[in-house]
Amino acid sequence: MKKIAIVGAGQSGLQLGFELLNKGYHVTLYSDKDACEIFNSAAPPVPIQFYPSLGYEKELGIDFWKSEPATHIDGVRFDLYTTDGTKAFTIEAPLKIKAQTIDLRLKFSEWLNEFKRRGGNLIIEKGTIALLEEITVKNDAVFVATGKGELSQLFKKDEKKTVFDKPQRHLALFYAKNCQLNYMNDPTSGGSSYNIMEGVGELIMSPFLSKNKERIFYILFEAIPGGPMDFFDRNADAAGQLELTKKFLKDNYPPLFQMIKDASLAGKNEWVCGAVTPTVKCPVGVLPSGNVVMAMGDLLILNDPILAQGLNGASKFAHYIAERIVKSEDKKFDAEWITEVTEGYWQTAQYNNAITTSMLQGAAPHQQELLFAASQNPSIAADFVNGIGQAHVMYPWFGDPNEAKKYLDKKALNIVKEAAE
Ligand SMILES: Cc1cc2nc3c(=O)[nH]c(=O)nc-3n(C[C@H](O)[C@H](O)[C@H](O)COP(=O)(O)OP(=O)(O)OC[C@H]3O[C@@H](n4cnc5c(N)ncnc54)[C@H](O)[C@@H]3O)c2cc1C
Repeated sequence: MKKIAIVGAGQSGLQLGFELLNKGYHVTLYSDKDACEIFNSAAPPVPIQFYPSLGYEKELGIDFWKSEPATHIDGVRFDLYTTDGTKAFTIEAPLKIKAQTIDLRLKFSEWLNEFKRRGGNLIIEKGTIALLEEITVKNDAVFVATGKGELSQLFKKDEKKTVFDKPQRHLALFYAKNCQLNYMNDPTSGGSSYNIMEGVGELIMSPFLSKNKERIFYILFEAIPGGPMDFFDRNADAAGQLELTKKFLKDNYPPLFQMIKDASLAGKNEWVCGAVTPTVKCPVGVLPSGNVVMAMGDLLILNDPILAQGLNGASKFAHYIAERIVKSEDKKFDAEWITEVTEGYWQTAQYNNAITTSMLQGAAPHQQELLFAASQNPSIAADFVNGIGQAHVMYPWFGDPNEAKKYLDKKALNIVKEAAE
């Protein structure tokens, strides 16, 4: 495989493009928008990006915003509120390696230009079945990284790996100014705030670097469908919707209201409202001619953003695919290769999905015990916070009650040992 085509220029497609250019491949990237259109597009999600995903960007020399303090996330604070609105406990820990939050319009528009500067062949054209037919003939391998776009119909749902058949949360994400976050009780700090309201949903907040290079915040509401916070209307005025959330928090969760009481929208339509049905697809897309293409990113594994596994997973898979292409120089790009590569990746990716599913369904008893232990023991808190970006390190202990007990016993023993020293 020497000539590669990629359709879709989000995290998956662009990162794979850079990885392969770096390794000397001939890469053609098809994007439905040019850099200017991306920069001026409607507000996209604002993902928190952790290591190891950030490490790939560093290796590729595309971590252009590393010296911008507004992108840095130093740690995460989780607060759990019970059904009567009382705070049950807090889990808080710094990240061993800072995470990053940035407006994707800034990131991808600059990356698109950089891709051309590095010799990539960029074509601004919307991918269609006809285009895929054409480029499967001209290239050794074709990857489809178009997210939730219409090409997703090419790929069948993987019934065994898909847990849900409808959205588990209704989402509203606001780009806002003037928030006061509670990480380390220091609103000027670069921490994220993650709040679970039992029976209601989640409120997730973080500072981030806006496309105009200002430090602003995102406020993400994850409302349980039919619950008391499920009042968002995507056709309504965004500022009015933000005011509704303030009233809801003031009446029900005063400490959360404190964080957004002075918040105002960063721009008129700077919000995202919708829902996703977490879905895993089969990776092989068969075109009418019989030629095959491979799915990646959200198109392959679509997660609810509750635990930030989407873009982080898309990035890990792009890196994994690039490594496998290098190792497969003499192999044919066919359904067998695509399936084998995807199954290899699933060995770790399944834990990204498992932890997201646990958060969406509500923690099992042993997971509740682990979370409470994390609120009491900084070492367990650190394991949680630093595990978000690489969920597989939290297994088997997060998934299995017996392993959870062993893990907690070991942590307790460590405390005894430390006290004795
Ligand atoms: C509210 C919200 C919050 C989120 N928060 C987080 C988080 O904190 N952490 C995290 O890791 N993830 C988060 N995510 C998920 C994350 O944004 C996605 O998982 C990630 O962006 C997927 O990347 P992708 O490259 O697969 O797809 P996309 O980013 O969707 O990119 C697809 C690209 O393909 C283009 N395209 C579409 N159709 C075509 C076509 N036919 N031809 C050519 N181009 C096409 C699109 O314009 C786009 O540029 C969040 C998602 C949401 C909705």
